[in-house]
Amino acid sequence: MDASTTNVQAPTVKLLIGGKMVESKTTQWRDVVNPATQQVLARVPFATADEINAAVASAKEAFKTWKKTPIGTRARIFLKLQQLIRENMGELAALLTAEQGKTLPDAEGDVFRGLEVVEHAANIGTLQLGDLANNVANGVDTYSIMQPLGVCAGITPFNFPAMIPLWMFPMAIATGNTFVLKPSEQDPMVTMRLCELALEAGIPAGVLNVIHGGEDAVNAICDHADIKAISFVGSTKVGTHVYNRASLNGKRVQCMMGAKNHAIVMPDSNKEQTLNALAGAAFGAAGQRCMALSVVVLVGEAQKWIPELVEKAKTLKVSAGTEAGTDVGPLVSCAALDRVTGLIERGVAEGAKLELDGRQPTVKGFEKGNFVGPTIFSGVKPGMSVYEQEIFGPVLCIVAADDIDQAIEFINANPNGNGTAIFTQSGAAARKFQEDIDVGQVGINVPIPVPVPLFSFTGSRASKLGDLGPYGKQVVLFYTQTKTVTARWFDDSTTSHGVNTTISLK
Ligand code: NAD
Repeated sequence: MDASTTNVQAPTVKLLIGGKMVESKTTQWRDVVNPATQQVLARVPFATADEINAAVASAKEAFKTWKKTPIGTRARIFLKLQQLIRENMGELAALLTAEQGKTLPDAEGDVFRGLEVVEHAANIGTLQLGDLANNVANGVDTYSIMQPLGVCAGITPFNFPAMIPLWMFPMAIATGNTFVLKPSEQDPMVTMRLCELALEAGIPAGVLNVIHGGEDAVNAICDHADIKAISFVGSTKVGTHVYNRASLNGKRVQCMMGAKNHAIVMPDSNKEQTLNALAGAAFGAAGQRCMALSVVVLVGEAQKWIPELVEKAKTLKVSAGTEAGTDVGPLVSCAALDRVTGLIERGVAEGAKLELDGRQPTVKGFEKGNFVGPTIFSGVKPGMSVYEQEIFGPVLCIVAADDIDQAIEFINANPNGNGTAIFTQSGAAARKFQEDIDVGQVGINVPIPVPVPLFSFTGSRASKLGDLGPYGKQVVLFYTQTKTVTARWFDDSTTSHGVNTTISLK
């Protein structure tokens, strides 16, 4: 992605290096734009190679002391951070809506789902426990300790600029690592505000660093010899590149990537609840969620519900995220608007039936915004662009199936495996779905089943690379190296049994 300089009056987004917010010396800048108005809110730098190296060097130096910081000290920083996030919720949500576009209540949800991970990080004392086996041989104990890796890095997408950075740095730092974050260059402002709060909460200088940029910054992270692990969330194309490049450089990598989430609607489901859930999950956040509902598979008699679903979608208000009552805000950029409208055109050209056309909605007072209203296609088939691509807009594709077996087979044939849901009143159907579906996050009458941090976010097939998820129990394993210690202590009364030349512990 290219950087360009257009508005030199706008405030600059800072880098965070060595505990200080610093102005970049780069010549490459990109505007951060309000997607409802096109107002330039700020300019974000594309950090220079020297700045990226300085951020990593500062994290490497800070690791020397941070790794030895007591558990309680680490935990209390996150207790304080959760308090500061709560106190600043309104400001954070407003910043997020301004630069990303989602509605204010949804922006609070974005911050809140990240806050849950901060709360979890405050429990690090009970999460980072090793095991101990007493007397594995005479007078010998074996125990494991989970030690931090060193400098870890995070690369985040534009669609959750609060939640996803908060998936990353709190757990990485709570487990004793230091961190370099590379937020999305499209909406870095709320992320930076969260980092300011993290400093205020007591994160020491160098433990958390932030660089900005695009492809070059990401490649520099993948290649840097002093970075031990990378957590990436974003598209499948970029995530696969990051996974391959960073793995070849010997790093531990987890990549949470793109999606095409399907829901099955059984004819026995509660119709009103189901239609509400479908509309909310397909069109909320203008479809810019990795867990957005993209495809609904109507089984049998449920195929007659299309007109009611269309009516439901028509009731949603399309406007700026700051306007009261808005359901669907703008797409993040003009480029995203062009891409989504182009895909709708291709859907029509390729023979899908356009049940509801959300293109070029009238949005009074926000005529320059990147708006697309709820859009519904029926008769969608594999091979059509609207089915094959992740649209990342408020576009729902409808397909039909005769029974649950056919529906499950259809979903499992799609390469993505991020989220899915079934709507039914039958426990047997729900259980069959849970068992046979090859998707990471499964909802039963829950359209967006993002797990709370007592569990780990996951994914299967093309939606995820790497074994361990970005929060929950799995991330403690991701950010630590297990060391086992086998120990025997002699006292004066220990009898010597001579030299042991075998592998056995005696
Ligand atoms: P993206 O892949 O374009 O960008 C993600 C990050 O990669 C950004 O920080 C960006 O600067 C960087 N980047 C972009 N192009 C690059 C390139 N060519 N080389 C190296 N780095 C590059 O993703 P996005 O558009 O910001 O976010 C939307 C995508 O993220 C969707 O595909 C969505 O499904 C996915 N997503 C997945 C999850 C999940 O948990 N599975 C969560 C949120 C978003």
